[in-house]
Amino acid sequence: MSPLLFVLAMEYLSRVLKKIARDKEFRFHERCADLQLNHLCFVDDVVLFTHGDFKSVYRVLQGFELFSQSSGLQANYSKSKLISNGIPEVEVQRILSVSKLKRGNLPFQYLGIPISAKKFSPCDYEGLIDKMVDRIKNWSWKFLSFAGRLTLINSVLISFHTYWAHIVVLPKRVLCRINEICRAFLWKGLAEFGGPGSVAWDDVCKSKYKGGLGIRHIDLWNLAALRKYVWAIAANKENMWVKWIHSVYLKGEHWWEYEPPLQSILYWKKITEVKNRLKEFYSFQSFISIRYSITEVYGKFRGVLESGNLAWTRYIWNAYLVPKHAFITWLATLNRLKTKAQLHHIGVASDPTCLICGNAKEDGIHLFFSCCYSRKCITEIKHWLGWNSNSESLQGLLRWLARGKGIYLNFREEFMLLV
Ligand SMILES: [Zn+2]
Repeated sequence: MSPLLFVLAMEYLSRVLKKIARDKEFRFHERCADLQLNHLCFVDDVVLFTHGDFKSVYRVLQGFELFSQSSGLQANYSKSKLISNGIPEVEVQRILSVSKLKRGNLPFQYLGIPISAKKFSPCDYEGLIDKMVDRIKNWSWKFLSFAGRLTLINSVLISFHTYWAHIVVLPKRVLCRINEICRAFLWKGLAEFGGPGSVAWDDVCKSKYKGGLGIRHIDLWNLAALRKYVWAIAANKENMWVKWIHSVYLKGEHWWEYEPPLQSILYWKKITEVKNRLKEFYSFQSFISIRYSITEVYGKFRGVLESGNLAWTRYIWNAYLVPKHAFITWLATLNRLKTKAQLHHIGVASDPTCLICGNAKEDGIHLFFSCCYSRKCITEIKHWLGWNSNSESLQGLLRWLARGKGIYLNFREEFMLLV
């Protein structure tokens, strides 16, 4: 069935269930009565809520049967479960006997996220970690350059975290594990790596123009995403979740002054905690007057941790430069390139001597400036560009460019520098 037809069919299911909700014999789940909520549906993931009496459950099952017969769409009963709480066992067995449902328990998965009334245990986050690890195992990492791995981290691996970070408060242990996976993939192309990386992870997570690679600080992103919920409640956004919060928790209390009862779930307490911290910086009126954007708030959080832009970075992160070369230049500028001298220092190479001339230790300065072949190349290029810098290091040359030439390089100079 085409996606559009499927959505239309599910709209019919939604209407059938809304009609059942108006039936006198149907009773809502006690926390859903104010909103007259008896189902949530996103594409083919459906959750039905009812009071635990047999008649209410039976009416919903009848509605579902009507939908199946009308549309030809059948529920996958191997994945469909009845989750009950506080219903006598006799009633539960009666419901199970008239339905094709199996009995289930909390937590269950909805849209890939575990739903639970209690604090999540570490194994509840295994779905997120497993997805990241499985994806890495499916990639042919041997053929990926550092730049390729960086792109996959930013576009794929971090996106798994982003999805969860919008919904749950990720514990520090899980955030650390996500960072470990990204770090292992960047430096080794693997999901597991316990050794040191070439550059400290905190520096890698700085934005590109502050000297890092722009990988996201996942803890700050999680906090920025949580603040959006605080803002949505304050601004009374028109969505089901905000209405439900007002109906179940706030019950007319002012959000800015609200304190959660002791028996509240951890997630709700966390959101309230974030709200209380925001009260130090905003009045209620000033907070709801801003247009909240997670990206903007995250940018502000990150700005506090990082100093100003570094002038040399614009010569590395530039549209003219091949990403693979940019990454190597970034490593060389930080003096973290795995030259023979460095490999010898950590006990990987037996000999630190330059492979080209065989006369000196192969460190960054020798490789790009002092070696006989490199010296000839750099002298020719400097002559052609008309540069009179005597810098004998990549950092020195980039500093000279940033100081003396500023942004006034012509195209030929930029192109040659970056190639
Ligand atoms: Zn040499």
